[in-house]
Amino acid sequence: MVNLLNYNQKQLAQWFADRGEKPFRAKQLMRWMHHFGVHDFEQMTDIAKNLREKLAVDAEITLPTVQLAQVSNDGTRKWLIGTDTANSIETVFIPEDDRGTLCISSQVGCALECTFCSTGRQGFNRNLSVAEIIGQLAIANQTLRQEPGYDMLPAGDRIISNVVMMGMGEPLANYDNVVTAMQIMLDDSAYGLSRRRVTLSTSGMVPAMDRLKEDCPVALAVSLHAPNDALRDVIVPINKKYPLKELMAACNRYLEKAPRDFVTFEYVMLDGVNDTVEHAHQLLALVKNVSCKFNLIPFNPFPNSGYDTSKPNHVRVFRDILMQAGYVVTVRKTRGDDIDAACGQLAGKVLDKTKRTSRHIPIESVD
Ligand code: SAH
Ligand code: SF4
Repeated sequence: MVNLLNYNQKQLAQWFADRGEKPFRAKQLMRWMHHFGVHDFEQMTDIAKNLREKLAVDAEITLPTVQLAQVSNDGTRKWLIGTDTANSIETVFIPEDDRGTLCISSQVGCALECTFCSTGRQGFNRNLSVAEIIGQLAIANQTLRQEPGYDMLPAGDRIISNVVMMGMGEPLANYDNVVTAMQIMLDDSAYGLSRRRVTLSTSGMVPAMDRLKEDCPVALAVSLHAPNDALRDVIVPINKKYPLKELMAACNRYLEKAPRDFVTFEYVMLDGVNDTVEHAHQLLALVKNVSCKFNLIPFNPFPNSGYDTSKPNHVRVFRDILMQAGYVVTVRKTRGDDIDAACGQLAGKVLDKTKRTSRHIPIESVD
């Protein structure tokens, strides 16, 4: 049985063509599956009955399993999703006055070993399938639609206005599945999100950034975290492969594709490690030719991390230096900490139970 949630519209059209069916069926099916959230072929009334019957034999539309759903006092919601308890990931919804942002995971664990990130400490377990990635959006959408306040919304109105690929894992290390899932997010027959409302965060996988700008040029966030190679080599080890000069050049190549865009540089604030006045000035020199803004993330500690959160006055001084140079700077707020959904508190259940999964919650995303 093939799970049709794994296909974008083009792939689905091919799948129909291979079966001697009309490729336009793909558009109808995308609307049913993703726009209306209908997963039972029987209910797809504009598809001929004999085709519906054939589909039910060959294919399925199956969402990943929700193990746990929680709601915070501040309205933040968190889902623990996975087929088995040793392999689960987390998805978080952050409601705000003018938007609703969903933070989606791309892998169980991560191979890139950033020293301040407990997902990195936990190591790599596996890539998520397209169905598991787009399924996080489907599950969140479906659940939220039943909530009082949202239940009266017309089917076409969006509760989730923004998606950020900032949950567990390095999205560009699961390139094909992440790109296919994002194409479904942008597809007018599916979720119809504009490409500026989908943000991908990467630790700086340069060749994949170049591919992304051709395949699916969504808003780009880059986890910078250090203003020089010596420090970045240690805290974001992928830097040894793709050092800062190459990374900055890749950011500019990305922006060529969308000249009015900017890159968001994420910068986790680690006490005494990367948060001094000197670091702020180095950072300004580093990014001077890149159209960008900054998102400072106070470090969320986890057991045995070896790091502390920067002092609030250091964060303020650092922010002000960047702002005085004319940059837009946001400092990420903590949301949902009563349900362990705040930055660094997410803990998808993984095989290695001795280590926690650290996640941050993006408050700021792209309009
Ligand atoms: N792998 C991608 C996306 C997932 S991580 C990336 O690295 O960009 C999303 C963001 O959370 C990254 O900027 C990451 O550096 C940050 N992060 C990881 N651990 C954190 C922690 N303990 N406290 C605050 N932010 C953290
Ligand atoms: Fe992986 Fe991102 Fe964590 Fe680095 S910060 S280990 S790339 S999830």
